Amino acid sequence: MLSFLDWGSSFRSRKVSNKEKDGDTGWPPSFPQSQLAYVLAAGPARERLGALLLDQERLQLATRLPESENLDDWIVLHCIDFLNLLNLLYGLVYEHACTSESCPRMTAGPAYEFLWQCADRRGAESLPASRYIELVLAWAEQELGSLTNGATNRKLCRKLTQRFHRIFAHLYHHHLAELLEMGALPHLNTSYLHFYFFVKEFQLVHSKDLEPMRDLIQLLLA
Ligand SMILES: [Zn+2]
Repeated sequence: MLSFLDWGSSFRSRKVSNKEKDGDTGWPPSFPQSQLAYVLAAGPARERLGALLLDQERLQLATRLPESENLDDWIVLHCIDFLNLLNLLYGLVYEHACTSESCPRMTAGPAYEFLWQCADRRGAESLPASRYIELVLAWAEQELGSLTNGATNRKLCRKLTQRFHRIFAHLYHHHLAELLEMGALPHLNTSYLHFYFFVKEFQLVHSKDLEPMRDLIQLLLA
């Protein structure tokens, strides 16, 4: 059996064939369609998949609203923190690993594709993951930067966290090998579990949107 790192290397070096580029065989390619599913199915790195930097209890407590804090401020501040974290985490794979060739669509494994809603409401568009994520991060920065102190915009925060969750899902399903090799998995897990407790505490992300991560969530909460 391939070691996980061997497998990760073979994944990175794999090129999409011309046949696939032409769309003859369609999407997804035959090589592991979800790195997360591969590892969860007793892959060689499964025992390291749940590594955390902080225990669950502390992460959950860190999301609770302090008595003196305003709820909307608390939610906006966390959205800013998660935006910064995602900029850092996605920055680890951006350009060299998450390209329009390796990730021609914004997916979380073979079962989920996330479409970009065009601003002019012309409809939803399928984009390479890197382009989709760039757009989400730039949009989030702009929206959060325009909020004045004390502004309440729960609807915006729901939309932000739903899209942030998609970025986490793409990282886990398609870039687990690179992140594991870099030693970044405990950081990713800690950020994701903190995010998960946060969106559950304030009911920001619908449970159906958490589906692509259901098995990982079970493992992290075990
Ligand atoms: Zn990607």
